[in-house]
Amino acid sequence: MALLHPDEALEMIEALNPEPRTETVKLDEALGRALAEEVLAPEDSPPFAKAAMDGFAVSSADPGPSWRLAAALAAGDAPARALARGECAKIMTGAMLPPGADRVVRVEYTREQGGTVTLLTEEPYANVIPRGENLRRGERVLGPRVLSPQDIGVLASLGRAEVRVAVRPVVGVLATGSELRNPGETLGPGQIYNSNGLQACAQVSAAGGRPRYYGIVRDEPEALRAAVGRALEECDLLLLSGGVSMGELDFVPGVLKDCGAEILFHKIAIKPGKPTLFARRERPGASGAAHSTYAFGLPGNPVSAFVIFEVFVRPLLARLQGLRFAPRTVHARLAEAVKRRDTERVELRPVRLERGEVRSLTFHGSAHLNALSGADALLRLEIGVSRLEEGSWTDVRLL
Ligand code: AMP
Ligand code: MG
Repeated sequence: MALLHPDEALEMIEALNPEPRTETVKLDEALGRALAEEVLAPEDSPPFAKAAMDGFAVSSADPGPSWRLAAALAAGDAPARALARGECAKIMTGAMLPPGADRVVRVEYTREQGGTVTLLTEEPYANVIPRGENLRRGERVLGPRVLSPQDIGVLASLGRAEVRVAVRPVVGVLATGSELRNPGETLGPGQIYNSNGLQACAQVSAAGGRPRYYGIVRDEPEALRAAVGRALEECDLLLLSGGVSMGELDFVPGVLKDCGAEILFHKIAIKPGKPTLFARRERPGASGAAHSTYAFGLPGNPVSAFVIFEVFVRPLLARLQGLRFAPRTVHARLAEAVKRRDTERVELRPVRLERGEVRSLTFHGSAHLNALSGADALLRLEIGVSRLEEGSWTDVRLL
């Protein structure tokens, strides 16, 4: 059977339209959250014309070269009266211009003596920040996106103390495998540490989700059915690792079906991560509307689990927060040729970026987790492509 092309798998995920729940949070808790409203400027920004320099506010209709000093205005002062003809006001950067003034002559271009200010050097600049220069009242400022520190700054500048954001999706993480022990425990013969569990929890947090860790479940169908059944009730999305391939003890696909989930795809033409499985279970919501719980069966190999999360789980987590995920890419030159023999799958190969060039890692395959933490990006090889030449240009996807 032909494997599903990864682009088709991604399209299926992108086409999902779950209705994200929203909540209002204080601005100091909004970093990294998915904005769930259209933010419009409530007022012009800045709300008044202000001085861009320290100097003297004058009217351009009253060119001087001398003015009588009539007032002094600091940032935060409300001018008491308008300037009359022949007058100027001492003004500090950020202070509101008095009515009648539309220009600031810089202090260093003037001489002040006995209450009279004289212009020494003409310049072409008005040194005024006009009202509404940054934003006009009613202008669209931000829409749905992951809020960055800069966005927090913009929202604060509009006077927003709170914003509406998507509720963080609850993402269950469950590692299957009788060989697994948790970090901190002692390994017996044949046992390894469960790295996928905490790695996936970290990826969930980094992608805006709330991880709910179910620990390790042994490769026993009864135990797995109980754990999966409970997790599907408690989560918006469940990530299972291991047990998803063709082995005798790979119980994940059967258990998901037993729990009422429909398999949307199983096995993708991708390397690493071919056994990947994606499923959905409908459950009646409080209001009667169906609410879907999604599940991924991630491969047990830690590099595969990581890459599949990046490529398929992140876009779903974005959809669950009302967003679309767009990976950041850079166009870069290959410092050395990239070769492979098997060209039946799309391959995503971890690479380093060094002085703007793509370098391969010493990479022993899907279990070589420590190579992954030295990677900056994923290089994509299309189906049928066995070689990329040294010096050729390609887009790599940043991690
Ligand atoms: P599986 O997909 O269950 O066949 O596992 C594939 C490989 O990944 C095996 O070598 C497993 O021991 C290993 N593996 C499975 N689960 C984990 C995990 N949670 N952490 C680290 N390695 C794992
Ligand atoms: Mg296993």
